[in-house]
Amino acid sequence: MKLLERIGRLVGTPSVSALSAAHDMPNRPVIDLLAEWLEGAGFACEIMPVTPDGQKANLIATRGRGPGGLVLSGHSDTVPFDGPLWQSDPFKLTERDGRLYGLGSADMKSFFAVALEAAARFDDRDLRAPLIVLATSDEECSMAGARALVQAGRPRARHAVIGEPTGLRPIRMHKGVSIEALEIQGRAGHSSDPSLGRNALDGMRRAMNAIVEYQDALAARHRRDELHPPITTFNLGAIRGGDSANRICGHCTLHHDVRLLPGLDFDAVRGELHARVARALEGLELTLSGGPLHPPVPPFETPADAAIVRACEALTGHSAGTVAFGTEGPFLSSLGMSTVILGPGDIAVAHQPNEYIDLAALQPAVDVVAQLIERFCVRGEA
Ligand SMILES: [Zn+2]
Repeated sequence: MKLLERIGRLVGTPSVSALSAAHDMPNRPVIDLLAEWLEGAGFACEIMPVTPDGQKANLIATRGRGPGGLVLSGHSDTVPFDGPLWQSDPFKLTERDGRLYGLGSADMKSFFAVALEAAARFDDRDLRAPLIVLATSDEECSMAGARALVQAGRPRARHAVIGEPTGLRPIRMHKGVSIEALEIQGRAGHSSDPSLGRNALDGMRRAMNAIVEYQDALAARHRRDELHPPITTFNLGAIRGGDSANRICGHCTLHHDVRLLPGLDFDAVRGELHARVARALEGLELTLSGGPLHPPVPPFETPADAAIVRACEALTGHSAGTVAFGTEGPFLSSLGMSTVILGPGDIAVAHQPNEYIDLAALQPAVDVVAQLIERFCVRGEA
């Protein structure tokens, strides 16, 4: 099957994932399609259910055996879409002006077709170390697929490339992100006399100052100039508290994010933040609680001198950089794989109406992936 036909079939198989049940779909049809192709290409395929009914699933497809080897990884889901804003059917791959339009064309269904095309250049007898194609579920919402892999401790390999759209530039670092809540419980009362209650909004005002001060304090201790901005940031994003001007505010909730530098730990930073906020609330007789609203995506960093980083730099002519978005990189890293993010397409057109990938971006990606297979699976370099 031709590369473009495969991309067309993948884009034509809907696999939207979303935290809202109204938009969420199974990814299983994409997993089944990939398994059929990969089995035909000599891979041993294992479908790992992520939900009990198996409608959300990961695929681990392996050719060759032994230690070492290379994982080519991608997520099989897409974000939801705004149908009326698309100029063509988002589920019908449409070629216009040298571009292939379709939902998931750049982010990141084309990468699976690229991986298959590159793998087809090698015979089973060529492989001294395993080549694994990995497809995950739910990367765009909960990262449940990647979390299930970590839980299962699989797959195991020495190196991994995640084919997110980076314009075929290697990425070895990004921040972690956690969405957090902070709740302050006070006591309502008549506003004419502040001593009749405990004002949660007054506490939150101090809490927010403490968060801003903590950002400065952390920035003074930890800085990574490769990242933009080069510090851990806290965004005060949403606040809800109180009900009327003549009542003392009894309860207030703040939602904020934490964009954490590599090398730092969410639990430790949250612990220090809460200790600082608790100090700011001393004497107010307010109760503080809070924590992550979802499991965080950890920071990701692969050392600049890792073999996979050096290989990707040499093959693409670009030195490894950073991105501002989260990926499954930290999860594959935690499985012991030396991981780089590298794939065709532009992240700037992803998650938007009329997402596309340049036709001209595909062949160079096939060539780079094939050379990585050559190096880490055929020559079996560690
Ligand atoms: Zn993606």
